[in-house]
Amino acid sequence: MSTTTPDRFGKESYTQILKEKDQILSLIYDTVGDVIFALNVTASGEYIFSSVNQSFLNATGLQREQVIGKNVKDVIPEPSLTEVLGHYETAISTKSSVSWEEITPYPTGTKIGEVRIAPVFDHNENCKMLIGSVHDITDSRNYAKKLEVSMEKIAQKNYELEQMGYVTSHDLSEPLNTIQSFSMLLKNELKESHHDGKALKHLEFITSATNRMQVLLKGMLDYNVIGKQLELKHSDLHEVVDHVLEDLAGTIMKEEAEVIVPDLPSLKIYESELRMLFQNLIGNAIKYRSPDRLVKVEITCQEEKERWKLEVIDNGIGIDEEYFERVFHVFQRLHKQKQFEGSGIGLSICKKVIDLHDGQIWVEKNSPYGSKFCFTISKKLI
Ligand code: ADP
Repeated sequence: MSTTTPDRFGKESYTQILKEKDQILSLIYDTVGDVIFALNVTASGEYIFSSVNQSFLNATGLQREQVIGKNVKDVIPEPSLTEVLGHYETAISTKSSVSWEEITPYPTGTKIGEVRIAPVFDHNENCKMLIGSVHDITDSRNYAKKLEVSMEKIAQKNYELEQMGYVTSHDLSEPLNTIQSFSMLLKNELKESHHDGKALKHLEFITSATNRMQVLLKGMLDYNVIGKQLELKHSDLHEVVDHVLEDLAGTIMKEEAEVIVPDLPSLKIYESELRMLFQNLIGNAIKYRSPDRLVKVEITCQEEKERWKLEVIDNGIGIDEEYFERVFHVFQRLHKQKQFEGSGIGLSICKKVIDLHDGQIWVEKNSPYGSKFCFTISKKLI
């Protein structure tokens, strides 16, 4: 049976505990990756190194005896010295820790460090010591710089691609118009000369291919134009939708579609771009109708904390879940041209418009039939 003897808590054990703690602290001090140092502050305001850890010696390439007991003026070279002394004075006068970023040309290479210095005061409020640490942020800064350079390059490439897309689609329209005009002339001439049906049939193919190319070029042009001349303004969303419905009046009448529009708010938006979005979503909602039922399109709008959420819901043929992402990519179509005409650009235009509005766009299944295109518009557009 053990008994608690006075010796267990005696002077010897206490010294032993302190020694062990000291060993643990020195181990941490010398194995930590950050540079740590302590400076004695003399009565005449000089700063003398009293302790530095192994990381300090590794980073500076100095020996312990070249630092300990030395004045910072003899260890830190100019121009860093003047800046560093200024921060020491601020820490002492404000009685708080001070931090700053420092670029130092060490013998081991130039390092960027986040330096932090904290003053220690005695009972007379005199600063006796400064404890400092330097966290090496060289890698993260270099990485950030590389990332910035890459981003600039990507932005430049993006701009070039956009320009190329614009010029290509714009310039290709001209020769295409010429082909279409001469095809038309040729068709009339063939008809007048009662030429056999074969040549006319071939001409039909040319005409339908050029018409399709024109639709694609128009889509590419529309896509490229988004974001070129932006004007953010307060607009009545109801008016925007009404204009779209006027433009689609022919299709709505032909398909006998019912379009339900709720009360819509006035919002800060890119009006002409948002009009393109409604044009595409309502247009698609009618185009991808089911032959089994009358077309019904419903628009909904809800206010949320930081954004507006809108939906364009249809009772059409619907979209398989596996294509929910893909339909927003350029030139992605789920149907053959014979089934439903289109360019595969409409939804990518919608995505670009919603990106401009700091929002999200996605599609869900509507119950019991059709699709629900949801999108959000940020309230914080500037
Ligand atoms: P387009 O309609 O010109 O083909 P979009 O980019 O507008 O191009 O749409 C991409 C594809 O997504 C369409 O080809 C169609 O397959 C599908 N889609 C779009 N809207 C709907 C909808 N409301 N219902 C069913 N399918 C749709």
